[in-house]
Amino acid sequence: MATAGTLLSHVYPIGARLNERGVLELGGCDALELAREFGTPAYVVVEDDLRTRAQAFVEAGRAAGHENLAVVYASKASACTALLRLFAQEGLWCDVASGGELHLALAAGFPAQRLLMHGNAKSREELRLALRHRLGLIVIDNLDEIQRLAGLLGGEEGDGAGGPAQGVLIRVTPDVRGDTHEKISTGQANSKFGFGMDQIGDAIQRVREIAGLELQGIHAHVGSQLLELEPFRRAAQQLAQLGVFPTWDLGGGLGVAYTAAQHPPAIEDYVGAVVGAAREYLGEHSRLLIEPGRSLTANAGVTLYTVESVKRNVSTWVAVDGGMSDNLRPMLYNAGYEAEIVDRFGGDTACVLAGKHCESGDVIVKDAHLDDPRPGDVVVTPATGAYGHAMANNYNGVPRPPVIFCSGGNARLVVRRESFDDLTFRDVI
Ligand SMILES: *Cc1c(COP(=O)(O)O)cnc(C)c1O
Repeated sequence: MATAGTLLSHVYPIGARLNERGVLELGGCDALELAREFGTPAYVVVEDDLRTRAQAFVEAGRAAGHENLAVVYASKASACTALLRLFAQEGLWCDVASGGELHLALAAGFPAQRLLMHGNAKSREELRLALRHRLGLIVIDNLDEIQRLAGLLGGEEGDGAGGPAQGVLIRVTPDVRGDTHEKISTGQANSKFGFGMDQIGDAIQRVREIAGLELQGIHAHVGSQLLELEPFRRAAQQLAQLGVFPTWDLGGGLGVAYTAAQHPPAIEDYVGAVVGAAREYLGEHSRLLIEPGRSLTANAGVTLYTVESVKRNVSTWVAVDGGMSDNLRPMLYNAGYEAEIVDRFGGDTACVLAGKHCESGDVIVKDAHLDDPRPGDVVVTPATGAYGHAMANNYNGVPRPPVIFCSGGNARLVVRRESFDDLTFRDVI
């Protein structure tokens, strides 16, 4: 059994440890007390961890000698007002992929000039909103979008015309494959995102014909959860064929450790490699954008659950009070996670950590090792700070969990738990 005072692996938030009583401590807060105060399931996020990682990206750009690097947080990884506000304060940009994400980012205090809009199916209304605010950049994905923008800027709808030009990038699929899950690989030629290398010339020409749009450069996102740096280099090398542009956006995708066996590149090494590749292939003086999502938030957050039942048949089934309504990644991508009982780390009972939902596939961790799990135990799954809260849903009428920020021993609620009334209040009868 792990002993008191032990620092935990890199899967846990920075500074997480077992306290004198042998209980998991996050941002100086005792996990058992958090569970008691806020209930479970709950997302717990260590604020200083978010800040440290945000600063690491910015500092790494400086250390690599890049004067014009923008770190653009991909808000789809996790978006609530408190978290977005923190990244806005740290000077990051933010990328949004819908009108709703735009609303969240503006409400959190991001200036419009530091926002970038993505999406392969942007509606007229979403584009109208983007133009009205004159976002820093719109990333154009397809020909229909170019037409739609031309219509709006041409005043066809009495909106969007006039004012300064709208800066845009054009998204290309560089035909580089990263070694990652098919569902989060985006850089291959047959992708639903962006223009192919053979189509981009036409797209560039069409955008340049539209008064009111200013083509600033090219965007490419190879894929997500990449644990090697080589695909980023290859993408930059591919993009160089397209010519000289004032701005290059190399997307996100730096992988994170979901389990202790995974060792992703350090933020510094990733930024160093991307800056190096940009310098080598894309020119010394262009502005460079990178769009980290999970690498800013995944390991800053954990989920706390309470064990409701323990059943023994072929396996030992430890069923908790959440599951695929608060973490879809195991079901969507077969993603692996770890689990521990917060006050008895390091157990060796092989068990399946199952959720409470009416699906056999509702399994959070297939191969957990827990210390003699019993009903009432509080269990932690680390590395749920990205695509957990963001993908949460109400399957089986389960209210979505709260988000709690911890720092220096203080805990504060930043998203409240949904109530049963929240489940019915939109219904019209
Ligand atoms: C998802 C996405 C990101 C962020 O991906 P992570 O794996 O979370 O870093 C960045 N850019 C684009 C265009 C994306 O779709």
